[in-house]
Amino acid sequence: MYKNWTLFLDRDGVINDEIPDSYVLSWDMFRFSNGVLEALPLLAQHFGRIVMVTNQRCIGRGLLTVNELETIHQKMLDQVAQHGGRIDKIYFCPDVDNSSPCRKPQSGMAMAAKHDFPDIDFTRSVMVGNTLSDMEFGKQLGMTTVFIPSTKPQLAFPHPLMDARFNDLWLFSQAIQ
Ligand SMILES: [Mg+2]
Repeated sequence: MYKNWTLFLDRDGVINDEIPDSYVLSWDMFRFSNGVLEALPLLAQHFGRIVMVTNQRCIGRGLLTVNELETIHQKMLDQVAQHGGRIDKIYFCPDVDNSSPCRKPQSGMAMAAKHDFPDIDFTRSVMVGNTLSDMEFGKQLGMTTVFIPSTKPQLAFPHPLMDARFNDLWLFSQAIQ
């Protein structure tokens, strides 16, 4: 069904466990969520392109440098690759201001991905995230949205911004086999 589709993945709360009221500021604070390393190779078989779009306000707040973020991401990508998965490119928004054009739900990171990979078709894309801002980001662009209730289990489904809801990325990867 999703062959030649693009998968847009949020990071915190989808790929790794979100740290309540804080940020992942070093690799030793980064924990892959259950089943993610097993899910990514399955998703890689289905999706022609997999990109990550992550708000990282901790950079704008001066808690983490871009270099430090990139170190964390390189280690994350190494682990993903060792397990047979892939993430083709990572986009992050360092800005603090909610109105920043790169900060989800604004579409800047999707536009950057489309610029890098012109064959991306948003109407043949899935956005997986754990916030309504992720769902809004996807819906505005005509994507199919998948909600992961890792940090907001109280958000009920059906919901106008959600096309599907799975408890974690592993269950999503199983559902599309
Ligand atoms: Mg998140």
